[in-house]
Amino acid sequence: MSDITQTPAELAEYHNLVAGQRVMADSGEWLDSFNPYTGQPWARIPRCGASDIDSAVAAAKAAFQDPAWRGLTATQRGKLLFKVADLIEQHSDRFAELETQDNGKLITETTPLIKYLADWYRYFGGLADKIEGAVLPMDKPSNFVYTRHEPLGVIAAITAWNSPLMLLTWKLAPLLAAGNTVVIKPSEHASVSTLEFVELFVEAGFPVGVINTVTGLGNEAGEALAAHPDVAKVAFTGGEKGGKSVFETAAHNLTQVSLELGGKSANIIFDDANLDAAVNGAVAGIFAATGQTCIAGSRLLVQKSVHDQVVEQLVEFASAAKMGSPTETTTQVGPITTKPQYNHVLSMIEKGHADGATCALGGKAADSEECGNGWFVEPTVFTGVSNEMRIAQEEVFGPVLSVIPFEDEADAIRIANDSLYGLASGIWTSDIGRAIRVSNAMESGTVWVNTYRAVSFIAPFGGYKNSGIGRENGQEAIFEFLQTKTVWMETELKTGNPFLMK
Ligand code: NDP
Repeated sequence: MSDITQTPAELAEYHNLVAGQRVMADSGEWLDSFNPYTGQPWARIPRCGASDIDSAVAAAKAAFQDPAWRGLTATQRGKLLFKVADLIEQHSDRFAELETQDNGKLITETTPLIKYLADWYRYFGGLADKIEGAVLPMDKPSNFVYTRHEPLGVIAAITAWNSPLMLLTWKLAPLLAAGNTVVIKPSEHASVSTLEFVELFVEAGFPVGVINTVTGLGNEAGEALAAHPDVAKVAFTGGEKGGKSVFETAAHNLTQVSLELGGKSANIIFDDANLDAAVNGAVAGIFAATGQTCIAGSRLLVQKSVHDQVVEQLVEFASAAKMGSPTETTTQVGPITTKPQYNHVLSMIEKGHADGATCALGGKAADSEECGNGWFVEPTVFTGVSNEMRIAQEEVFGPVLSVIPFEDEADAIRIANDSLYGLASGIWTSDIGRAIRVSNAMESGTVWVNTYRAVSFIAPFGGYKNSGIGRENGQEAIFEFLQTKTVWMETELKTGNPFLMK
């Protein structure tokens, strides 16, 4: 692998894909993309504005109506997705490298993760020709009535910086299988992997204009895209603030939305759990990906009878975590992806101190030699946290854990559900009855029992409460991008009173 931790003398320039052409922004303006480990720009991307969005949406709209795409059978669409899956597997190392360079996620995680994305395209490619309408068993004997599931049109896919290709794939595979076209707006902080990734679809033979990209700022390019009247649906992954803004913007045109937003997930350790596995799961929940995951188990609820033992094991485990370059295979905790996010994480640590929590580990920026010039924060554990504190209620999106003690099962459920969010939760117990009772009680879209941070193309994913609207993954995800048409046919032509409902 080439050394991607060095800042190149000249920035690599990336272009958008619109109507099959590689294009700059109409304004000619660029945005720098930073390597979070060096803290330096390494590439630049077009800064798109309203006119660029108009062109991209027009291309997607034309492609949606073009027989080159519209005329394909569902089986043919599926086969195109299978080709993409093969290409992903061939080039996964390249995309892992790009993503690690652009957002600082560990190469040890991006490498298997991107290879795994191929399975999303196979799953939804296979599903494309299994979306069946129905002939309805009508109550009116002279009517033959059936349903069809049809694509929506142009989808705007807006994604966050923490895992650009995975978040994109969760939208792209089902929306294409369903027969839609797309304009993709990746985060300004990590657009590069997406701009290269769409090349695979060109190579696979997707018709011109089916897949388009626009890069730029959220409140410029993102907002213009969400506001565009020819967009049928916005499929968004990001924070609560951005999600609410997109929801409001889309409402003006009654554009549909799906929102995958943030979380403040409770990871609950009962005293009957296997504590070694539970502590391992707690570390996976908050320090993997440097805590920059929507599903971070950022509230660790620990039964009082095992609290001290768990904290001791946890601190010992986390204090040994190796920080450093995300390209090194021995690194366990990498940098924070963006400077503003780094400042946000440090400000949340300040709030933890101010609200009276005890800092049992970390609690400050890390600047050892292994951290280069990157934006590093030490793995941080706060104990003595009460659920009212800001570090227990607000999303940190970084390596900061709040440990909250609880008395019993009812207390754990009450604390876990006392959150505006409801993306995921974890339960560690050896009692099967308790596992089922507590899973049923969790107000979250995903519950993991004796595991954490597992995802699959087969398993629906999405939020309760302020964590989102809609589901990605699993068979139901394709219905996010379809609409149902009901066709009525009369088998006995006759006249009757036209002023009465039939
Ligand atoms: P943001 O909400 O800031 O941004 C998400 C995307 O939306 C980016 O492409 C951004 O562009 C764009 N955007 C921002 N504002 C607007 C707007 N007003 N109109 C249209 N588009 C806009 O989130 P982050 O990128 O900071 O990502 C972190 C958040 O994402 C966390 O809250 C995390 O929990 C959540 N997330 C949720 C996941 C889930 O599946 N539930 C998965 C991963 C992350 P730009 O970056 O250029 O500003």
